[in-house]
Amino acid sequence: MDMKALFKISYGLYVVTSNDGEKDNGLILNTVMQVTSNPARIALAINKENYSHDVIKKSGMLTVNCLTEKTPFSVFEKFGFQSGKNVDKFAGDTVTRAQNGLVILPEYANAYFSLQVVEYSDLGSHGMFLCEVTEAKVLSDEASMTYAYYHAHVKPKPETKKKTGYVCKICGYVYEGDPLPADFICPLCKHGAEDFEKL
Ligand code: FE
Repeated sequence: MDMKALFKISYGLYVVTSNDGEKDNGLILNTVMQVTSNPARIALAINKENYSHDVIKKSGMLTVNCLTEKTPFSVFEKFGFQSGKNVDKFAGDTVTRAQNGLVILPEYANAYFSLQVVEYSDLGSHGMFLCEVTEAKVLSDEASMTYAYYHAHVKPKPETKKKTGYVCKICGYVYEGDPLPADFICPLCKHGAEDFEKL
């Protein structure tokens, strides 16, 4: 099997917002998919290591912000490279909210939609949320950012000096050392060893 075949699936990139009852939270997600149209249902898979997984499982509520190609890397750092477990990602921000009260990002999103979870499936490493759309709004005509666009134009290129180690193909984190432990989890984006490649 050539598992690289799976890299040919195209994805978008989203900031999914939620609230744990005390603070707003958001994470970067690529696994968002419309699965039915009438009624419109959306499926998302979230890694259980992510704080948002637990928050959304408990609250049953989330809002998906569709990022545009103009979204700067700093947004990915803010929402993707730190955890809501120990950081308030919206601290000090003046925020705009959707009807469900969750934060939206009009500066970076061309659309948002709010979701109510109707079904949860335990996928082992991830939880899958099947959701109904409760609000949907287009914000601009900017092009949506795809995962491929992010890799080609947004993510800083890792330094390719003669270092021994492995680089995370998702976020660019470099693990210095060899071999990479099989159970290694990227401290930044929480992807596993299978998403690393040798420098
Ligand atoms: Fe990573």
